[in-house]
Formats: sequence, C-alpha cells, structure tokens
Amino acid sequence: MKYDLKNLFDPITLPNGVSLKNRIVMAPMTTCCGYYDGTVTQELIDYYRVRSQNLGAIIVECGFVEHRGLAFPGAIGLDSDDRIEGLSHIAQAIKAQGAKAIIQIYHGGRMVDPKLIGGQSPVAPSAIAAPRPNSPTPIALSAEEVDEMIDKFGQATRRAIAAGFDGVEIHGANTYLIQQFYSPNSNQRNDKWGGNRDNRLRFPLAILAITKQMAKNYANDKFIIGYRFSPEELEVPGIRFDDTLYLLDKLAIKGLDYVHFSMGATLRPSIVDTRDPTPLIDKFIQQRSPALAKIPVIGVGNVVNKSDADQALTHGYDMVAVGRAYIAYPDWADRIKEQQTLSLSINSDQRVALHIPEPLWRFPLVDSLIRDVSNHAKKFKAGQYQETVSDDNQNEFVINVELGNDFIKNMTLQNADRLDPTTITHFNEIKDRIVTANSPYVDAISGATSQCEAFKKAVSKAMSKSNKAAILAEGGNPDEKAVDIVVIGSGGAGLAAAIQAHDDGANVMIVEKMSIIGGNTNKASAGMNAAETQFQQKLGIHDNKELFYNETLKGGKYKNHPQLLKYFVDNAPNAIEWLDEKGITLSDITTTGGMSIDRTHRPASRAAVGGFLISGLIKNINKRDIDVMLETTATEIRMENNQVVAVQIKNEEGNIQTIKTKAVIVATGGFGANPQMITHYRPDLANVVTTNHKGATGSGITLLQHIGADTVDMGEIQIHPTVEQQSAYLISESIRGGGAILVSKAGKRFVNELDTRDKVSHEIRSLPEQFAYIVFDHQVRQENKAVDEYLAHDLIVQAETIEQLAEKLAIDSHGLATTIARFNQFVTNQHDDDFNRKTALRHPINQAPYYAIQIAPGIHHTMGGVTINTHTEVLDRQQQPIKGAYAAGEVVGGVHGANRIGGNAVADIIIFGIQAGTQAAQYIKNH
Ligand code: ADP
Repeated sequence: MKYDLKNLFDPITLPNGVSLKNRIVMAPMTTCCGYYDGTVTQELIDYYRVRSQNLGAIIVECGFVEHRGLAFPGAIGLDSDDRIEGLSHIAQAIKAQGAKAIIQIYHGGRMVDPKLIGGQSPVAPSAIAAPRPNSPTPIALSAEEVDEMIDKFGQATRRAIAAGFDGVEIHGANTYLIQQFYSPNSNQRNDKWGGNRDNRLRFPLAILAITKQMAKNYANDKFIIGYRFSPEELEVPGIRFDDTLYLLDKLAIKGLDYVHFSMGATLRPSIVDTRDPTPLIDKFIQQRSPALAKIPVIGVGNVVNKSDADQALTHGYDMVAVGRAYIAYPDWADRIKEQQTLSLSINSDQRVALHIPEPLWRFPLVDSLIRDVSNHAKKFKAGQYQETVSDDNQNEFVINVELGNDFIKNMTLQNADRLDPTTITHFNEIKDRIVTANSPYVDAISGATSQCEAFKKAVSKAMSKSNKAAILAEGGNPDEKAVDIVVIGSGGAGLAAAIQAHDDGANVMIVEKMSIIGGNTNKASAGMNAAETQFQQKLGIHDNKELFYNETLKGGKYKNHPQLLKYFVDNAPNAIEWLDEKGITLSDITTTGGMSIDRTHRPASRAAVGGFLISGLIKNINKRDIDVMLETTATEIRMENNQVVAVQIKNEEGNIQTIKTKAVIVATGGFGANPQMITHYRPDLANVVTTNHKGATGSGITLLQHIGADTVDMGEIQIHPTVEQQSAYLISESIRGGGAILVSKAGKRFVNELDTRDKVSHEIRSLPEQFAYIVFDHQVRQENKAVDEYLAHDLIVQAETIEQLAEKLAIDSHGLATTIARFNQFVTNQHDDDFNRKTALRHPINQAPYYAIQIAPGIHHTMGGVTINTHTEVLDRQQQPIKGAYAAGEVVGGVHGANRIGGNAVADIIIFGIQAGTQAAQYIKNH
C-alpha cells in the first residue's frame, strides 16, 4: 500500500473551512477533576491552559449531558446553564494560545454506576446490563425519553457554544449511550430506534442532526463537529468493523469535520478477528466510502515520540491525538519539534510544575507514569551487584542488579537457563514493576508470592550494599545512622505513621523484622469501620458516631478506654478521607458482627481490605522514598535523660547497628503468634490455632516494657469464630455479613451469626463437635472476592443442591434443608424468630452452587497491650508519657476493651497510625 507523507507540523483545513495550525490534538482524557457536582475547578483550567501551546486543538474530556449520564467521579457537566461560566474559562484558556477548543458531549447510559447518580438505576436503549461483572440493569428509555435525550445533547451543544468552544466531539465510543444505541448487543428495542442496523443508526444520526441544528442556531458555520467511535465490540452480537464503516459513511454524508478512532494504539488490529494483524486504520483507508474519504481521521494511542506520530500519519491518519505524553509534557509539540526523544514518565516531584491536578495525579493512567526522584533518594555506588536468593521451595536465583547513582537501572536473571518459562515471565514482570517504581517494594504476583519476594530481596540487598559503599566512598561511616523517627513494624499502623510523619516534615525510617512489608494487616479481610463518612452518605446510609461508640463499647464489654474510644470514633471518617486522598479508596460498605449499621468500608471491588490497603500504602511509601529495612529487628530502645535517643537493630546476618533517633513509633502488632505469651496470660487457650502471621510475637510490648511502659488488658485475647483449622485460614466475617449462616453437624443454626466474635466463638466451642459449617450460596460468593481465594486454597465444599451439600459434608441432609428453608423465611420477613439476627438478612440462600466451609475458632487478636493517651504517647506505670515513645495499632491496649469488633482493627491502625505520625513529627519540631 502506498501512503501520502503528511507532515505533523503542517496546518490542516477541516471540511468546514477551519484551519488548525498543525495536526496535533490533545486527546480527551478523564481528569476526574470536576467538583462532585460537575462544575470545573481552577486546577482544571490551568491544566488545559499550559497544554494549549502550538497544537491544533485540545479535545476536552467528556461533559455529561444530563444528571444520569456521568460515567466516572469528578466528571464535568454540560447538563445545565450554570456550567457555562466555568467551562468558558477552560475554552478561553485553550483559545488564548491559538489552539481550537473542542469538548466532548456524552451520556454514559448503562455504563453509569448507580452510586454516582444517587443510587438511581442508569438508563439505556434496553433494560440489559452490560456484560461485565456487577453491572447494574438499566431502565430502558421510553420513546418519549429518547426524544428528550436527543434534546439534551442539543442543549449540551448550545452550552458548549455559549461557553465559547470552537466545536464539540460527539462521543459515540467507549460503549456509552450513543454506541449503546448502535450496538445490537445493548439495543434490543422493537420501536423505530432498534431492530435492524438502519434503525439502530437513527440515534447517532439524530444526535448529529441536533448538534448541527444547534451550531446553526447559536454559532456559525465554522463550528467544528467531530465524531468519536470505538471500531468494534467483542460481544456477540456486537458492532463489527463493517458496521462502523457503515455508520461513519451515513454520518459523513450528513457532514462532519472529523472522525476520531478510540483505541489504545494507533496501529491496533482487529480485536474480534485476532488472526488478522492488519491495522484497522489500513482497512479503514482501503474500505471507506467516498463521503468518508473526504473527512479527516484522527488516530490515538501510544503516541509519545515523533516517530509514533509519523508512523500514524503514514498509515493514513490525518491528525494524531496525544494523550498521556501531553500529561507528562505540557509542551509536547515544542519538544517534538526540537526533535527531543521523550520517555513516558513523570518525575514524582513535578506534579505542581506540570499543572497536574491532584485527582488526575492519583488516576491509574498517570500514577503508572510517575517515577520517584524525591530529594531524600538513597545514594548508591553505581554498578552491578550480584545476589543469590531463594524462594520457599529452595529454588535458587542468581540475580544481577544494576544500580545508577540514585535509581534501579535493571536486573537480570543469571541462571535463567535452569529455570522454567513461568518463573522467567514472573521475573520480568517483577523487574518491570521494580524499575518503574524505582523501589523493591512492589506488589507480588498472586500465586507466586514467595518467588517474587526472593526477586525483591535481591534488589534490597544490592541497594543496601551499594548504599554502604556510597557512604564509605564519601568518607562516612555506614554504621552510624541518624534519623528523626524510627518506626518499628511495617503493618498498617507503622506505614500510616511513617507517611504522616514524613508529610509533616520528619525524616523517617521503618524497620521490619519479616522479609515482607505489611504484617498481620496483610491478612485483614472485612474492612474498616467508620461512621458518618462521605461514602456512607453517598449510599444513603444514615449513621452516627454516638451509635458507633456505643456499639463498640457494648461489644468490648464496657472495658474500652473511653477517651481512646472517643478519639477513635471521632477520627474514623478523617482516616477514611486520609486514605482516599492517598489513592486508597474504601467506597463499598458492608457490616460485621456487633454493628447494627453498614459501616465497614472496603474496596469497590469488594476485595479483602488488607492486601489492598498495604499495596496502596506501599505505593505511598515509595513515592516518598521512605526507607524500609526488611529482615531487621528492633532489639532495644535506648533512653538517656528519660528520653528516647536511639534504637538498636539487628539485621538478617546478625549484625547489630544503632540508629540515633529522637522518637520511636512502635507499631509491632499483637502477640497472637506467640504461644508462650498466650498461655502465660490465658492457659485455657493453649493449643488453639492462630490466624496471625509469624511476626505477631509481641516483641514491641517487651521493648516498651523495658523502658517503663505499662500494659493493660493482656488477658483479653480474641478468638475468631470462623477459622478453617487445617490451614488456619480465617474465613472473613464479611461472608456472614454478606448473608451466610452457621450450622452444626446436625444441620441446625445455633447462634445469631452476626453476634460479637466472643459470643459466636463460645457457641461453637459449646457444640459437642466443637466445630461448625459456614454455609452460603452463589449470591454471597458473587459479592465477596475472598471466596475465590478460599476456593483456590481448596477450603470449600460445593454442590449444586442443598441435599448434595449435606451429603458431601456428611451431615443431616433433612436438617440442613429445613434450616435453610426456615432461614429464608426469616429473610423474607426480615425477622429472625430463632436467634434474633438483625443484620445481613440480605438474600435467601437459594442460588446454586451452594458452599460450605468447616470452621472452628482460632486466636485472632490480642486486645491488650501497652498503654497510650490520645496523643499515642506511651504511658508509664504512673500514667506519664515516656518522652519520645509513641505506639499505635495492635501493640496498644485499651481501644477495644474485652472484645474487638470486626472492622475495628483496620480503623484502629489507620486512625492511631496517623496520630502517631503527627504527634511524633510535632515532638521532633519541639526538640
Ligand atoms: P498493626 O496491625 O498494628 O499495624 P501488624 O501486625 O500489621 O500490626 O504489623 C506489625 C509489624 O511489625 C509486623 O510486620 C511485624 O513483623 C513487625 N514487627 C514486630 N516486632 C518487630 C520488631 N521487634 N522489629 C521490627 N519489626 C517488628
């Protein structure tokens, strides 16, 4: 095929006669920076302003045409006249430099999350949910509403014109409403808007017609109208490329100024016919109709350097849209003109200088580009370091780690020839993650944790060696180290404290005795309790702090320390916000035992909270370049003149080092995995399995006792009712919170499953068999990702009928069937006549497959620990603060009293972790 050579910097004239100064446009990208109500912010205006030099046009991210149309949080609105003023600032900012300002008009249709529209059902051509997990079933628009919708698109165009935009792009892509009308998958109407292809075409045509009409009424013939399309759909039935060409031809006949592919790469081939490698743009050029051939076509996807743009133009695109590279380089066009070679990354200290609004900075699209270069960056002696590490199965890996002066350059597997291909794939994936994050602290690949930990360890070791070498080379003594604050323990409490102290200006270091970050927090499953949060409000959940306080107090048998509990309850919503600001959003809500209201916040994916939390906190640790010393145990806190002056640490090789410090934050977790301590305080719990990770040995309590700390409630040890005994795997309370029941070997319920942990555990231990089964159905499984994990670990018995399930469990089948039928009746009546269960009567257990897991109680949480005040200062036996000593998390006693409520541990570690960081940093400033 022969192509014309177009020059990226040549002007181009659109069919309406408008000339663009060159062929570069900034691609529409979701910034999530609108206010919650869709108005625009100053940050957003500045973001566009600085990117508007020397390019043809900026296509501003999509504006929703009505209140049910927004497909993501922070979307900007074109749905009412009040928006015009704010939008006009964006238009002016873009036009001031001679670029054309175009804005997308869209409606998300069935892709809208009900949570974004006040819990309403979204609307669509037909009442068919999108074929994606957890998609809501939309309401079909009536014929009258379709007419109204067209009018709304018209009004949105009018507003765009009034705001001073040079044009609009009709967003017919990304499976939003316009595409939904054209798609045989989502449009199964039988009126004039649905059925055959020509009928399905009517809606896009009607949108074009009204847009043109509005342009005619309110603008002039120079108003630009573009159309964005997704070339194919995977679904069957679904839009195929020839359908797209058909649609574009019809639109072209009516007159358009450009069409715009929506794809991840300019030269992407078909996603439907995966055997055909021909780029779709080649097919487009070959097969387009004469009408369509007159319309310029924009390509998008992975354009970073001039060669990418030229390649796109060579294949027939008339213009190229540049996305992420424009976020990283606001003066992209100038740099390309100067023939710079760009890499798609953003230095972590550049957010403000690059005018990237905070919400966009945290958006995965951008987050993945950020390269850490903070000032505290550890200095390395550049070079190659060879490390030998092993995984849990004694597989040995010889890894060469190449370090630059302050960054990780590369890593290579020296003994690759002796390893299987999967290992090599894992290695390459982890290498990419490490090099991109410029840190060994990255998420492991699920199912290959131990291998990944070994790869990461090689990097940590190399870094530590080369750091020492660098210090020696500069004439320093690597064994003499001083920091403002040493944080002991890298669970949720330690990480939150370190982040906060760093943000308050302190120089922080974390020591962690295990080889991985995260402690027991990694295992947290249900979520994080908080009352009166924005997320509860969005879901229409009315809660109040007083109730939360009282329920926690009741659950804790009135033994909780009142001031600590009050601080906890009052600050829980702030802690949820604090996490959200750090990209750790817990927006879905469930419940746990002992709570009367849904207040257990968890990730939107409903995944277990622990891994999600630690992974998000680690990203924040990496961004701040906070040093984490793994396999390093704090062995002593040193005092002089009654204040903390140093922490002694011991590394993996047994080397002892003293770190000078002014303050220490002890966040070492509980002692649930220390049988001696458990039996010392509670002989009755000897030989009970523990759900805790190996590091939960209570060493922080001992460290603090040595410097005079008092302890409280040491005998209050929680056993969790639902632990699978062979694996000591904890079966999350969210399963019961999601609707599961507990039954005995007789197939009978025996307790209110959502009662507090101590009561449920007691009832199980009182059964003759001393174990029980947690039983649930497909509906509960669907809402709890944790179930996938249990299945993967082979902990679950499943069956197609309740009778089969009973047979497999060898329990009374008639008993089980009767119990479930009776429970289902309670769900219908929303009243549990037998055990007065008041929460989580969510759905009847009636959808196959059915699941059961045999469980019994296991040691789970140690409520007791050192004493602190609400400033997290560690108190001595006279209840006086020990200067420079702070503690947070499970190492502390008092918050939970005699029994901890599910979801309160995560809240505890974050709330008091933040407070410890704040207070310790403040202490440093004053000393
Ligand atoms: P929390 O939930 O309170 O944050 P976690 O159990 O999640 O507690 O985390 C505590 C971390 O502290 C664990 O990773 C544990 O290995 C670590 N740890 C415990 N004792 C020490 C110690 N003496 N030195 C360093 N790390 C420690």
